[in-house]
Amino acid sequence: TNVEEVGEVIRLYVEMERKVHRCPKCNQRTSKIHDYRIQKIQHLKWFERKTQIFYKRRRYVCECGKRFSEKNPFVMRYQRTSIEWNQAISIKAIKGKTFKETAEIYGCSSSTIIRRFDQISRSEIRPVEELPTVIAIDEYKGDTREGKYQLIIANGITKEPIDILPNRYKRTIKDYLRKHGSRVQIVIMDMNHSFKAAVQEALGKPVIVADRFHFCRYIYWGLDGVRRRVQNQFHGYDRKKCKRMKHVFHKDCQRLTKDEKWHLNRYLEMSNELKQAYEIKEAYRTWFLRAKENGKNSISLVKKELEELYKLIEDSKIPE
Ligand SMILES: [Zn+2]
Repeated sequence: TNVEEVGEVIRLYVEMERKVHRCPKCNQRTSKIHDYRIQKIQHLKWFERKTQIFYKRRRYVCECGKRFSEKNPFVMRYQRTSIEWNQAISIKAIKGKTFKETAEIYGCSSSTIIRRFDQISRSEIRPVEELPTVIAIDEYKGDTREGKYQLIIANGITKEPIDILPNRYKRTIKDYLRKHGSRVQIVIMDMNHSFKAAVQEALGKPVIVADRFHFCRYIYWGLDGVRRRVQNQFHGYDRKKCKRMKHVFHKDCQRLTKDEKWHLNRYLEMSNELKQAYEIKEAYRTWFLRAKENGKNSISLVKKELEELYKLIEDSKIPE
């Protein structure tokens, strides 16, 4: 009904329309008003200003004598913050950069954000006794005092997160796996050597699977390396343009636009080595697609073709 600015704060004055409600006690219809109460609710910022809803909450009365509040879509019972505000801080408690920053943005204390974080994480992750037979381990950039990188452990089949370790030190992962990993048979992980050693020392001889994302990356990193080295010898315009068009080297060639295809061909024509590196990447892609198709029934064929791919890479003599 009204908007007011009071100092730094915006106040929204809100009322619901009068409407027939069903009595929660006897289910009869009523639209008879009992009284009003003003409720102050913290809401999301409006144009970067702290915002409060002043809700004139209406109560109805039924013939049976029952008094009850009207329905409304923006605040739950007994809450002093709006539904949208609650949803936003639930997301930001997890995704925000720091608790302190999130608290400042939403106009509450850090401990409110931390409490929310704990509530959500408790329902997402329960303490682990025994890990399942297939696990996946990956690092991610967190922000704890113990280390910049944390480790997430997930069920390798269902992909559900199981636990988070505070850092990626060898000691941490080894202790953890010794304690909880007696059933683990397969570990999906990146291709880091010291990490792999830690897993093997803790678990004996699990099957270690290089996850496909990390495996693919080496091929694309290799191709990027050649492209960077080669484009440095191009002249001014082509050097800049090639750098700007670098995505065309990665993209599935069937999905390239006409313009992208033109640029790709131009740069491949300008350097034999780049062309060769590109062909290796394409050979890898072909191998990968065939591996997905044939892997289940003829793994030895997949292996043979992988060895052919390795030979192609070696014979190219491209250092990257
Ligand atoms: Zn009633």
